Amino acid sequence: MRTEMHKPIIMTVDLEDWFQVENLRSAYPHDSWNSCDLHVPLNTHVLLDIFDHYGVHATFFVLGWVAERCRGLVREIHTRGHEIASHGYSHRLLFDLPKGQLERELRTSKSLLEDITGAPVRGFRAPGFSVTDELLELLPDLGYEYDSSYNNIFLNKRCGKIDGWRVGPNGALTKGKIVELSIRNLKIGPFTIPWGGGGYFRLFPPALFKRGVERILLEEAPYVFYMHPWELDSVQPRTRGIGRLNGFRHYVHLSDTFHRINYFFSGLKDCSFMGCHRYLHQPSVTPLPLQTAHTIKPAAFREMEDAGPMEQHEIHG
Ligand SMILES: [Zn+2]
Repeated sequence: MRTEMHKPIIMTVDLEDWFQVENLRSAYPHDSWNSCDLHVPLNTHVLLDIFDHYGVHATFFVLGWVAERCRGLVREIHTRGHEIASHGYSHRLLFDLPKGQLERELRTSKSLLEDITGAPVRGFRAPGFSVTDELLELLPDLGYEYDSSYNNIFLNKRCGKIDGWRVGPNGALTKGKIVELSIRNLKIGPFTIPWGGGGYFRLFPPALFKRGVERILLEEAPYVFYMHPWELDSVQPRTRGIGRLNGFRHYVHLSDTFHRINYFFSGLKDCSFMGCHRYLHQPSVTPLPLQTAHTIKPAAFREMEDAGPMEQHEIHG
């Protein structure tokens, strides 16, 4: 199967650190975050180098908590040509926020990120894809143009369930005044198989995952891929006591992500990888430059290897 020339793939990164992930929540409650080692700057530099190598443009949905502590990193992502959007402030699922907190998070994270980069923040992604009707109603009034929080994996209880979508510009969905760049999954008969990225990108064999993406690209709607900098961090602390399923979701094939992402970009070189805003406004961008290297070693990655394994933490609880 071949993809149509220069099919767009919307590349997104949720910028958060390893201890902020929902699968590890029982071991790292919010009030413990200040005592955790930040790995996000180094891992993000590895990712930025990979993106530079393949000519990939992405949207980074940045967590406000991280932005406050890594202002220079957010500025660098912006100056290296990527879009900065909001991932909220606290990484709490939207269903769990007390009344009024969602609006505060949307306002605070937006103004913080705009203060750092001087550029408007137009997009939002809810932690854990926990989209709600309240979110979609609030976003346009607070100056957001699009959302990317809808993921129709209904087996995962963290994902929000929204009805009443219409097909809008460039094949994106709309509801009310907001444009939705939803995560796209693979449909086989009556089944929907998670295919948007994250742990599923690390779980399935790379060649199979690529073929699934090519199949999705044949449909008349954008394909949105998502990942996190911590997925490149094979030496991050190993957390215990979080349950087998959570542990599997977080750690599966972490040591292979670097090679998988290289395979993904080099294997789909006929596609154009772009961020959300660019997709919505400039769908016919220049094609991805042809690259042949499959095993690049960015400077940041070499630095991480040279440093050797980091201290291993064990959490019992
Ligand atoms: Zn997140």
